[in-house]
Amino acid sequence: MIQAKPTIFNGRQFRLRMEARWAVFFDFLHIEYLYEPAWDAVKVGWAYVNYKPDYFLPAPLALWVEIKPRHIDNLSYLEMLKTIGWTKEYGSILILVGQPQVPKTNSQEHYLVEDRKGKLVVTDHMWWCECPKCGTLGVEHYGGIPAACSTSHYTEEITDLFDNVLPDPDGHKSQRIKRAYKAARDEKF
Ligand SMILES: [Zn+2]
Repeated sequence: MIQAKPTIFNGRQFRLRMEARWAVFFDFLHIEYLYEPAWDAVKVGWAYVNYKPDYFLPAPLALWVEIKPRHIDNLSYLEMLKTIGWTKEYGSILILVGQPQVPKTNSQEHYLVEDRKGKLVVTDHMWWCECPKCGTLGVEHYGGIPAACSTSHYTEEITDLFDNVLPDPDGHKSQRIKRAYKAARDEKF
């Protein structure tokens, strides 16, 4: 059980230090965020329970974010049901696991929980990434080029891949994102 340690950052109080570290990460990248922006009842089985994801990242990302200290397999059954309820009602949730850090290939973190036409789809290896051409930020499966970037950049990178010019569309290797991870970890609260 992780101990709740309220942390102040930018004049705002976060329930967990880990949540505050992600706020540093968002700030560094100029990603707009709302902390605990809503508290709506979601349907869990026959009952309605209060549940709020930790963050909302407005458009273009338009993602709810839930910070979890551990691997998603450790989500309790109730947490899973709440996540499903929220996703169906209000949109995709990005589950960020652990401290902000350069993702390790051998871990599955992080996860995107989406409702695709009534079917819940969970995608692992969701990594923060940046388009090397225009700087658009996003979260994609194994990094790559953010889908929010102009289609031409995305297509160019893929074409390069097929031509073997680039081994990998590696938007997650962005130096700016690496600096954001470092800033988040180095922040002294
Ligand atoms: Zn781009």
